[in-house]
Amino acid sequence: MDAYDVIIVGTGAGGGTLARHLAPSGKKILLLERGDWLPREPQNWLAQDVFVDNRYVSEDTWYDTKGKPFQPQIHYFVGGATKLYGAALYRLREEDFGELRHHDGLSPAWPISYDELEPYYTKAEQMYEVHGARGEDPTEPPTSAPYPHPAVSHEPRIQQLSDQLEAAGYHPFHAPCGILLDEQNMPYSRCVRCANCDGFPCAVHGKADAEVMGVRPALEHDNVTLLRNAKAVKLETNPEGTAVTGVVVTHDGTTETFSGDLVVVACGAANTAKLLLESATDEHPNGLANGSDQVGRNFMFHDSVAVLALSREENPTVYQKTLGLNDFYFGSDEFEFPLGNIQMVGKSQAPMFHGEKPGETKLAPEWTLERVARHAIDFWLSTEDLPRADNRVSVDRDGKLTLSYSETNAEAKKQLYGKLRSLLGKLDMNEGHLFHRFAYMKNEIPFAGCAHQAGTCRFGDDPATSALNVDCRAHELDNLYVVDTSIFPSIGAVNPALTAMANSLRVGDHLLERLGASEYAAAAA
Ligand SMILES: Cc1cc2nc3c(=O)[nH]c(=O)nc-3n(C[C@H](O)[C@H](O)[C@H](O)COP(=O)(O)OP(=O)(O)OC[C@H]3O[C@@H](n4cnc5c(N)ncnc54)[C@H](O)[C@@H]3O)c2cc1C
Ligand code: SF4
Repeated sequence: MDAYDVIIVGTGAGGGTLARHLAPSGKKILLLERGDWLPREPQNWLAQDVFVDNRYVSEDTWYDTKGKPFQPQIHYFVGGATKLYGAALYRLREEDFGELRHHDGLSPAWPISYDELEPYYTKAEQMYEVHGARGEDPTEPPTSAPYPHPAVSHEPRIQQLSDQLEAAGYHPFHAPCGILLDEQNMPYSRCVRCANCDGFPCAVHGKADAEVMGVRPALEHDNVTLLRNAKAVKLETNPEGTAVTGVVVTHDGTTETFSGDLVVVACGAANTAKLLLESATDEHPNGLANGSDQVGRNFMFHDSVAVLALSREENPTVYQKTLGLNDFYFGSDEFEFPLGNIQMVGKSQAPMFHGEKPGETKLAPEWTLERVARHAIDFWLSTEDLPRADNRVSVDRDGKLTLSYSETNAEAKKQLYGKLRSLLGKLDMNEGHLFHRFAYMKNEIPFAGCAHQAGTCRFGDDPATSALNVDCRAHELDNLYVVDTSIFPSIGAVNPALTAMANSLRVGDHLLERLGASEYAAAAA
């Protein structure tokens, strides 16, 4: 059995970031990834292949509460979901770390404050080369450093939208973008500023994803090994059940077991829960880290709405994801509870609509899909999803994964949609015409769009109500850690990846200390 100092299972936002952080320590690190490199090929940038044919979506089948099968929109590659992400790299708001009252109930506090995570947010922004502008968004939390790169400029139609929002009394801001764009030196810029970013893989590795910014730099260190197509199927423990002794992996048709002094799970919220639940032993009959019966519970995602408005003039924008609006994050004049975040989403392209049912594409009778796409201005609305014990991942004896979910905060979501709709007339858009866009969510079960899944393995101070302690170590096992979005006690209403990355760096410092390599802590970015 090969022995490592650290085994990291999963190479996405959580695992890939941790790998890079630990790599310079010289410790022997094994990365296990069930997927392969995402192939670099022309189809990376073809809407038909990506959105209609689901070329990069896993072939997994999950089941809803009624036993109905569906295909979850998850991605098994080196870099995980970040290979396809829109790279909108937001910090949670400072208030999101405290208890917040929502229309449907309380969003619980985190066991750490924003201040404790702030230095790691700064490091994560540096590691992922985030482009942004401080001081524009009134809900922005306090920060200790400027963004490492200037904001990505708005193209003319989005600049016009920004100006019009400002004229109407709102506070649009330049969205934080993790793309490796150098507008001052385009011949040398890795990102070429194309229309195929949000939801697509980047064919030129210009996106700051966890493969490009996490795994590849980690592999420059000889002490780091990546095993691809290696699916962790079980964690073994010592007879007392106090430590993980082996990670059982299926790889190339064989089963192998690896051992590590420290084992870190970062498989994404649903698969992390699955692995822990399937690793039950006599000492841990309900699964590892599950003395509190919290593993798999509190599944959250942003049941976001992608909508398009029709601009009176054509919208020739190429890279549209440059603007955000948080004026309704904590409520509005008419609604005292938080509504959420509005941001742009990748520009509509006619082929994206082709997978939709005829009823859904009947946007405006006299408009062809091509014309709709030319005039579309596309928004992404996210309202906070609240943790509910019954919203959960469970796994039966055959490994069948069931995702039970009931929507939360539907009224707040409706209000946010209504707010945007009410603004259209002031923004040179066809008044009243705000259509749902199904490109991300054409699957019939709404939660199949589980891109922002989180919360199945939350961390906390109390072992009775959490799976992990404040260091993200399992309460009951001395060497088992989790660093993906499953640790979130609440999800806020902004995109989750930067928070997972920052928390990975925070936990990474703790691990370096445990490994006797604390001189490498805080140095990584
Ligand atoms: C289309 C899309 C757009 C998005 N846009 C944004 C955005 O703009 N901004 C943002 O902040 N977030 C965005 N997200 C969400 C973001 O990508 C995720 O929140 C983030 O990647 C989650 O990180 P993670 O480490 O929890 O999981 P992942 O990044 O999914 O990583 C999990 C990894 O574990 C691997 N794995 C799973 N099971 C096993 C196993 N048993 N053994 C070995 N390996 C395993 C997976 O293959 C994967 O590589 C988007 C996601 C999608 C899909
Ligand atoms: S906009 Fe840049 S980072 Fe995004 S896919 Fe295009 S080239 Fe890649």
